[in-house]
Amino acid sequence: SFTALIARINNVVRTQKDQRDLNRDVAKLRDLAYRDDMTGLLNRRAFFDRANAEFEIAKGSAEPMAVAILDLDHFKEINDNFGHAAGDEVLRKFGSLLKNSLRLHDIVGRIGGEEFAVCLPNTTPMQAYSILERLRTHVAKQTFCETDDGGIRPVTVSIGIVGLTDQKELDGLMILADMALYRAKSQGRNRTIVETGVSN
Ligand code: GH3
Ligand code: MG
Ligand code: MG
Repeated sequence: SFTALIARINNVVRTQKDQRDLNRDVAKLRDLAYRDDMTGLLNRRAFFDRANAEFEIAKGSAEPMAVAILDLDHFKEINDNFGHAAGDEVLRKFGSLLKNSLRLHDIVGRIGGEEFAVCLPNTTPMQAYSILERLRTHVAKQTFCETDDGGIRPVTVSIGIVGLTDQKELDGLMILADMALYRAKSQGRNRTIVETGVSN
């Protein structure tokens, strides 16, 4: 009957709407699982998932790849002097400066409190150095926090970079990047160091 037909059409329409709602929910859930709330960047797990996939591709090809770890300097002092909310704001602003200095297919995540990581496909360590050095000097010139007397408290970042090596696992590469970062810290912070003790 006509009424039955209308009922069936209504059903289909409702189902399609349900489907759209469902798709939206799934997208929201995926975002929750992959994104860092604070910065909108990939969270630690998602960064390593995607970087691992890129690493496997790069390993089997002749293309270069670079990974880097970036750690904000004396961040505890920022929190202590300006409050935790101001610290959060610095993290968001830094995250967006970092994202904006990279290409769309580069992988960028917040892998710890004030620690970020990038994986740059088709990029040599020296190219990564020039990209991240430009970011580092730009960050140091930014006004993140103003002191009560109108002065500016600069925010700086230390960066460790490494290119593809004979490492079989991404984790091994990240350890080398971390060693370079550690050297950047111990040499006075606000600098970028490329791990070169290995063949690139
Ligand atoms: P270094 O130059 O050696 O890296 O010094 P640091 O103070 O940055 O390093 P440390 O690891 O001692 O301190 C990290 C600080 O980052 C401590 C912690 O309170 C702060 N932090 C971590 N996560 C967050 C966050 O989500 N928001 C804010 N506001 N602060 C955070
Ligand atoms: Mg730090
Ligand atoms: Mg740290």
